[in-house]
Amino acid sequence: MAQRKKYAFPANRESLEDYYDMTLSCYKCGYCKYVWPSRIQHDKFTGQCPSGEKYQFESYYASGRMEVVRGIIEGHLKWTDRLNHILYTCTMCGACDESCGQVERVYPTDVILEARRTAVKEGQILPGHQQLAKSVSKHHNLYESDHADRNNWAKGLADVKSRSKIIYFAGCTTESLKPSIAKSTSKLLKSLGVEFGILPDGWCCGMPLFDTGQTDDGVKTLKHNIEQIRDTGAETVIFSDAWCYKAFRDSKDYGIELGFKVLHLTEFLAPYLAKGKLKFDRGTNETVTYQDPCYLSRYFEVYEQPRDLIKSVKGVTLKEMYRSRRESFCCGAAGGVKFQFPEVTEHASSTRIDEAKHAGLSKIVTACPSCQISLEDASKDNGMEIYDIAEYLSEGLKKTKK
Ligand code: SF4
Ligand code: SF4
Repeated sequence: MAQRKKYAFPANRESLEDYYDMTLSCYKCGYCKYVWPSRIQHDKFTGQCPSGEKYQFESYYASGRMEVVRGIIEGHLKWTDRLNHILYTCTMCGACDESCGQVERVYPTDVILEARRTAVKEGQILPGHQQLAKSVSKHHNLYESDHADRNNWAKGLADVKSRSKIIYFAGCTTESLKPSIAKSTSKLLKSLGVEFGILPDGWCCGMPLFDTGQTDDGVKTLKHNIEQIRDTGAETVIFSDAWCYKAFRDSKDYGIELGFKVLHLTEFLAPYLAKGKLKFDRGTNETVTYQDPCYLSRYFEVYEQPRDLIKSVKGVTLKEMYRSRRESFCCGAAGGVKFQFPEVTEHASSTRIDEAKHAGLSKIVTACPSCQISLEDASKDNGMEIYDIAEYLSEGLKKTKK
């Protein structure tokens, strides 16, 4: 899907009207609603669209949203609470793009995102999304955390450096809610002897702003981070949050040339694993499964690196859920949905936990703090264990025999 833009025509779409042909191209085949027919593994787990699965109503699937956007462009539909609910309950998971790319190439997420940008231009910002923008503007993070505390996790593990070839960008979700991921990432990098630095004044990456159509605010915060990174002379920036990773990977869409390489931690570690420089032993034999973060997997095709790392842990067997890789089911956290309609996130994560249980699994590893948090929230009463891959691997590192 990373290549999808080359199929989009005209190449430069600048307003919602420019997407009119896409809305007309959707011929309601319904392929975007379900796992691709030849790849269905279990008849209970065939759905692909988190919002469609929750509301079971045409408008909440990509195909219905294409009709809604057509109605906006043609002037038949006005902005209403119901219309905003339809537009903003999409998690931007990209499952519909993936399916539609095989039949018609409508790419619904491009259309939905442009509709959100138009909504914002017309003053239709939902309260939860206003709140997140306010928090980013005031505190430079999504959670109203004290900005001065952002690097607290790094004590004894990582240093702010004015010059560094490698920068680790933890992101505000990790800094505020899951510092253990940043600590684990640092331990992994240190175990390899990698010299890296962290930013003195890192802000939210901007992805939730982009996702909610608040593009100008998103560009502002992304640019701040890019300038900070450029000041260090970094050649490579490592991410453990799939949202942040996508914000930077998409920078060209906002006319920004980065001048440095963007790698998810699992991509950074992959060559070390291939050269035999990473060995993990958690001291137990266990079976785990992997939750693909949509912004890492479907959008950028980072499917195998995390799986190879998990499989390399001594005594660990990786078993896929019924829906995996391109057919993976979103945890429901992305697209700004969790900040306004958390019930969609809860439904998606609970569905995923149900799937893991159905497959006889009790441990899920993922590679993004938002996926981890959402799956954890849905696991409170059912004993499912959820790990971020950095935590999972670094715990094995402790027991590695050198
Ligand atoms: S968005 Fe694509 S896959 Fe979905 S119904 Fe329309 S044409 Fe079919
Ligand atoms: S991006 Fe995901 S949630 Fe949104 S319409 Fe497509 S499949 Fe549904």
